[in-house]
Amino acid sequence: MCGIVGYIGKNKKALNVLINGLKHLEYRGYDSSGIAYIKDNSLIIKKTVGRINDLEKIIDNDDYAYIGIGHTRWATHGIVNKVNSHPHKCKHITIVHNGIIENYQELKNKLIDKGYTFKSDTDTEVAAVLLEYLYEKNNDILLSIKEFKQKVSGAYAIALICDKEKDTLYAIKKNSPLIIGLGKDENFIASDVPAIIEYTNKYITLNDGDYAKITKEEVFIFDNDNKQVNYNIKTFEGNASEINKNGFDHFMLKEIYEQPAVVRRMISLNSVPDISRYKQILIVACGSAMHAGLVGKYLLETYVDKPVIVEIASEFRYKKLFIDKNTLVIAISQSGETADTLEAVKVAKKHKCRTLGIINVPESSIAREVDYVIYTEAGSEIAVATTKAYIAQVLVLAKLAYRNCAIKDLKEINNFQISLKKLPVIMEEILSLDKKVKQIAKVLSKQRDIFYIGRGIDYAISMEASLKVKEISYIHSDAYAAGELKHGTISLIEKNTPVIGIVTDQKIASKTISNLKEVKARGANVIYLTTKELDSEGDFYDYKIIIKNINPLLDPILTIIPLQLIAYYVALERGCDIDKPKNLAKSVTVE
Ligand code: GLU
Repeated sequence: MCGIVGYIGKNKKALNVLINGLKHLEYRGYDSSGIAYIKDNSLIIKKTVGRINDLEKIIDNDDYAYIGIGHTRWATHGIVNKVNSHPHKCKHITIVHNGIIENYQELKNKLIDKGYTFKSDTDTEVAAVLLEYLYEKNNDILLSIKEFKQKVSGAYAIALICDKEKDTLYAIKKNSPLIIGLGKDENFIASDVPAIIEYTNKYITLNDGDYAKITKEEVFIFDNDNKQVNYNIKTFEGNASEINKNGFDHFMLKEIYEQPAVVRRMISLNSVPDISRYKQILIVACGSAMHAGLVGKYLLETYVDKPVIVEIASEFRYKKLFIDKNTLVIAISQSGETADTLEAVKVAKKHKCRTLGIINVPESSIAREVDYVIYTEAGSEIAVATTKAYIAQVLVLAKLAYRNCAIKDLKEINNFQISLKKLPVIMEEILSLDKKVKQIAKVLSKQRDIFYIGRGIDYAISMEASLKVKEISYIHSDAYAAGELKHGTISLIEKNTPVIGIVTDQKIASKTISNLKEVKARGANVIYLTTKELDSEGDFYDYKIIIKNINPLLDPILTIIPLQLIAYYVALERGCDIDKPKNLAKSVTVE
């Protein structure tokens, strides 16, 4: 998590570039922020608790600087306060850091023994002090970085300024993302492309173990073996407008409304692999990507006729495994940087499994680690709560199920391609239900708890719907397999407890409706989400949302849309900071 930006050049005011860049990286972390820059030969540091807007307020706009580094923090070590926020400085060395220095305590003890003192509780300050110690010994930054990498374990993307070399920036990368943007007579460092896209679309991706020396005219890259290497210059093909709200109040709403366009883009994405030779499929992911995996489990088991296990990546990486070369491991991640999922892929490869990534961000760490990658093409997703990247993941899994379908004679499966073409229009129709959704959201926004229930694929969708509402509105919510309710949770149902029942599967619709009747009988406020075909009258619900369905492989994409809108409008009613929910960050690069 956290966002890093760096600038060196003669064309722009470094402070403007840093503040702008940090605003575009705020989705990565936003508890505190800071910048360091050189003005009239002295290094100045400004930091504050809060958002980039708060940082802007304490900066002198007339300060002219041609070199600087900036940081927006998502605290891992040390509470959120000004002292712990970055940049961290020790004598000549000033750094910003994304990641975790795992052996920081041991290093800190050794440095204290050598007479160094510390102001903060962060692991980052240990990195700054260690670099200073090495620099004092070597009087050479590159050599000091080389020795630093040998001594430090963990994850770090670091941007560094040495006040004895006022015309050079340094960057170091291991297990946390870092790119170098290339301009004319100016260069940049950033955690992600949106930070620099206003200025350049040319960039270099650093590999793990790489470090760089950057002046305004030149970039020198050194690899893990400390050899200077040639680099590939990449061009960002995305649209700069994706990083603006384009008239929407929030990125989340904009991204919900972009979903039909995402599907249109992905219709022609045909290259999903043949997976027939594998005995079982194992999906590893975290959060919403894991929920997309659960939808995928139902689709792949039903249509491909193979066992599918879904594992939370942070659990998978530390448990006993029963996988081998006959298991296909599918890793799903929007950012492609999710630390636990990346590690899960490495573990799977050690077990000789083939790995397939379903990833949104090109050239990200997981995309580079897996044997085969399918890009979701959802475009830049800025809101912390995922919407369009989630439906894009589900669509890839649906395509995988269709391509490998073992039940070719089902009419609806054969109609997949036709249904896929119609899908965006039906999505647009569902998006126009927002008036109804707003009315329901108003009621829900006053509640303490919200329960979601469903069976089969509807249960998988319930989990995503529940996560969506809790992450942005801070209302407690949970999802239950509808048949499981009476084994405990029904004791929580009292007068007006909201229960959202998702009923889109004809085979089990009557069973879920029975469960809705059970909660209604105990006073629940029931919201019934169903399809035109299954619509059932009765006195078991208070509100009803009816959506069209089109094809069993694609229907999950339609079902989630009103539930995303409910989450959004509940959070809006409650005045929450929808795009940047508290304690969360978009790209979870720590374990
Ligand atoms: N571990 C560092 C800290 O807690 C960096 C966290 C981050 O990546 O924002 O300050």
